[in-house]
Amino acid sequence: MSHLTVDLGGRPGLDCRGFCSYCYFKHVKGTTAFGCRYCLPFQKGCDYCTRGVREGYEAFKSLRTVADETLANLQVMSEDVDRITISGGGDPSCYPEFADLVELLGSMEVPLHIGYTSGKGFDDPAIADHLIENGLAEVSYTVFAADPELRRQWMHDPTPEASLAVLDRLCGAIDVYAATVVLPGVNDGKALEDTCAWLEERGAKGLILMRFANRTDQGLILGNAPILEGQRVHAVDEFHEMVTDLNDRFSMKISGTPLGDPSIGSPFAILHEPDLLKKLPRVRKRATVITGSIAAPFLQRLLSIRGSTSRVVAVKKEIACLITADDLAGVNLSKLEDVVILPGRAFVHDAEAQKILSADGVDREVVRGPESLTADAETSMGMTRMEVLDKEMEGFAALINTINRYGL
Ligand code: SF4
Repeated sequence: MSHLTVDLGGRPGLDCRGFCSYCYFKHVKGTTAFGCRYCLPFQKGCDYCTRGVREGYEAFKSLRTVADETLANLQVMSEDVDRITISGGGDPSCYPEFADLVELLGSMEVPLHIGYTSGKGFDDPAIADHLIENGLAEVSYTVFAADPELRRQWMHDPTPEASLAVLDRLCGAIDVYAATVVLPGVNDGKALEDTCAWLEERGAKGLILMRFANRTDQGLILGNAPILEGQRVHAVDEFHEMVTDLNDRFSMKISGTPLGDPSIGSPFAILHEPDLLKKLPRVRKRATVITGSIAAPFLQRLLSIRGSTSRVVAVKKEIACLITADDLAGVNLSKLEDVVILPGRAFVHDAEAQKILSADGVDREVVRGPESLTADAETSMGMTRMEVLDKEMEGFAALINTINRYGL
């Protein structure tokens, strides 16, 4: 059994009926290459780190193109399709031939999944029944707030009542994972509590809260900070407490990114599992692991438990996967071992990282670690605790094996 992804193309913001006020793709300019794990050793920049990360796609594809591509993809699949995911750079609800597309995919009689929609394109609540009749089984839906005025003002949703009516109907019929970026003073506090209650009453499976980022060190790497001039941002701990408190008060699952999933104890739920920790390999060599400032204390604890005597070094950037060359340039080189391990997904070209991290005259070897060590809230929302622990075991075993293979 396998998954089929149907890519509609489209550009964030432009194919979303205009940008939401808080959209991270707002003000993105240029196409500078960051460098990443996919780049060739001698060339900084590839399709992924120049175009993919900006979601710099073309406008929506025509229905004809989508249908042809879907057919071609089906022909090369050796197994039966057990799930179809509709995704795109633009918002599926704004796809001009959305109802026809759903009917076409529905004729395959395979459960449909919409990877992400804001619902801004839904003007008629009747689309909800059309989606359900054609096999929609799961959707991630941006709610922002149950108050239509907040959606109108901050998402620029021209018909927020209709979008919420669609969400309401879907909650009662299929698996709905709602999501919202949380803007302190706008849709937090009482507005957020009302939104949680609204979703819970209607039967949503869960709500993912995303901390708003407004600065480069919080994760805006596309040269477009601030997104909202003067907007307050939650401190990481404050945000984590808010997520934990809401998850305690509602029976619907509520999790947050970057921290955390309180029902599972992730990220790094493995730290609460001494028996699993014992099954990880011992650290036998010395190497510096560089990571983001949020993950650093967790990684230090875990690696020390497994015998490491090297320091984990945190850069200023909070999220490890969004580390760029600028972050490495801020590292105190005197604290580094001769072998340095970078997050697998860091946006740095290997050769450039090696040059920056050897600028003090010590010729350091720079190696990439695993792609991920845990599941963030978006990933863990549909996972069991055991699945998250398995993922963490796999990630940390790979990290420790990398230390033991390349370390000194
Ligand atoms: S719907 Fe999502 S991608 Fe589109 S403008 Fe809003 S935040 Fe950006």
